[in-house]
Order: sequence, then structure tokens, then C-alpha cells
Amino acid sequence: MTIWQCVMGCGACCNLDPTDRPDLENYLTIEELTHYHNLVGKGGWCINFNHDTRKCRIYKERPNFCRVTPKIFEKMYKIKESEFNGFAIECCQQQIAGIYGENSLEMKHYNQEVIIDGKIKGE
Ligand code: SF4
Ligand code: SF4
Repeated sequence: MTIWQCVMGCGACCNLDPTDRPDLENYLTIEELTHYHNLVGKGGWCINFNHDTRKCRIYKERPNFCRVTPKIFEKMYKIKESEFNGFAIECCQQQIAGIYGENSLEMKHYNQEVIIDGKIKGE
């Protein structure tokens, strides 16, 4: 069961600042790495990120490295399907903390969606 979910009004992972992700070459191919660097704009934000709506302008065509699915995470990070929820949720929380802060409204909103009584929903 997939508990992980993206929430509206976030966009934290669309800040691609490579200095915050020093291990990119460990999980991206050379072509993907070039693509990734080509997307990095002002302040590390992806050039396809709409700051007003906090949505991706190319959502349907976004690169694989922007997609959060058990299959892609297994391929990129060697994460087993059974570990997907915990790993993906932690990735979101780390990214949200780094961009908006641990005590941000974005973090509260995110945790409301995936955490109940201090635990990931359904686990
Ligand atoms: S950090 Fe997570 S919740 Fe926020 S936009 Fe990215 S996938 Fe969605
Ligand atoms: S392509 Fe879209 S989903 Fe990927 S980082 Fe850019 S704005 Fe975000």
C-alpha cells in the first residue's frame, strides 16, 4: 500500500540546487546528470517550476528523476518496494525542512497527510 503522497502547495523538491545533493552522480546516468544541471535556474529552482502556483509546468513530461514511484526508486536508489513509503516520506521531509524549515506550514501540512500519532499512516 502506498502511503507516500505529494501535497499541493509544496514544490520543495523542485529546488534542485546541486550543492544540496552532492551524490547526484551516484544515482543519475551521465545523460540524466546533464539534463538535471540544465534545469537548475535562479536560487537552485528548476526552470520549469511555477512559483505562483508551486506546480511543475511540464508535469506530464517531467524527467524520471522527478517521479516518485516504487519502481523508479528501486532503480535509482536500490530501495526495495517494502521500504518505499518510509524512504520517500523522509526524502520529502528533508527537502521541505531544507527549503521551508522544520516548523514551516509546509511541513505541518505534509505531516498531516502522511503521519498519524507520530507514525506513518498504515504502518
Ligand atoms: S517535497 Fe514531496 S510533497 Fe513537496 S513537492 Fe516534492 S514530492 Fe511533493
Ligand atoms: S521538471 Fe517539474 S517536477 Fe521536475 S524539478 Fe522541474 S518543476 Fe519540479
